[in-house]
Amino acid sequence: MTPRRFSALRNNRALRRIARPIRRQVRALRPRAGILMYHRVASEAVDPWNLCVSPEHFDAQMALLARRGAAVDLAAFANDEVLDRTGSRLAVTFDDAYRDNLEVALPILERHGIPATFFVVSDALGRSREFWWDALGRAVLESGTLPTTLEIVLAGRERRFAIADDSAAAPTSTRWHADWEEPRNGREQLYMDLWHAIVALPPVDQDAAVAEVLLWAGMPLAGPERRRPATREQVAALAGHPLVRIGNHTRHHPSLPDHDAARQRDEIAGCQQALTELAGSPVDRMSYPFGRHDAASRAIVAELGIPIACTSHPAVVTARQLRHELPRLQVLDRDADGFARWLRDDHALLARAA
Ligand SMILES: [Zn+2]
Repeated sequence: MTPRRFSALRNNRALRRIARPIRRQVRALRPRAGILMYHRVASEAVDPWNLCVSPEHFDAQMALLARRGAAVDLAAFANDEVLDRTGSRLAVTFDDAYRDNLEVALPILERHGIPATFFVVSDALGRSREFWWDALGRAVLESGTLPTTLEIVLAGRERRFAIADDSAAAPTSTRWHADWEEPRNGREQLYMDLWHAIVALPPVDQDAAVAEVLLWAGMPLAGPERRRPATREQVAALAGHPLVRIGNHTRHHPSLPDHDAARQRDEIAGCQQALTELAGSPVDRMSYPFGRHDAASRAIVAELGIPIACTSHPAVVTARQLRHELPRLQVLDRDADGFARWLRDDHALLARAA
């Protein structure tokens, strides 16, 4: 077959349709395992990034992992032994160390004997304010009537934003998924525009920016207690728990590639030191905030001797992945059947009953 004819075949739509399921089957033969990413075990009416899994669904999901004997500690991913053709090994991870991880998720993990990793933002422990993205959601998506224009200084630049339709009058009642839906109105557009502008700022400027947006929206500075990060005492107690490992999630949760190597080092090494002191032993795992990393971040993680680092790239783990770029699958608020189907059909994990 000449290269030219081969490429004509590849461009044939009908052939592509046949090839796709074959490719999926070939993929399913590859040894693999999965790392599950959770943030909160809670229910919120407004949750644009799908961070919440309800306590009922989390309980059902953990019951399934327990029944199938599937749960392993993330340390198992340091080598390829965790990979097999049934994709029957899964690690549970939580990012950000929200208070509900301790108060709601941990008792469920204990009930089912599931090991889990909690990635901690060390300088956020004990904060009386929410993470900036939650405060932004409260100001822009949850508040009542908003002014139609916002003037704000971001990164030293004066910026003007406007809500171009009538959505400033009242919050929308139906759920919006910023992960996979375009903004449906001016309010949601404003949220996205501000999110993208704020994510790259240094932490102190992020706090100042959301404080200004809250003031503009007529909302109090402090958010509800249930959305706050855990306290130092809670995480210290967690570090000694037989089912739990804590991991590095930086000091302030910056978007690492938006900062120079010195600031990245301060964020990663500073968190490493704080958590090692808190836990009384070295921390052996890392998760990049927003899943974002670059060569500088990876080099710092390697220099610090942290053997495993996770991204938020949605894929299963195979022998191809580097240990400092392990992909993870974000778990959505699904019941046990939906969770099992998603693992099996979308990712060829837990494909066969044990
Ligand atoms: Zn995070």
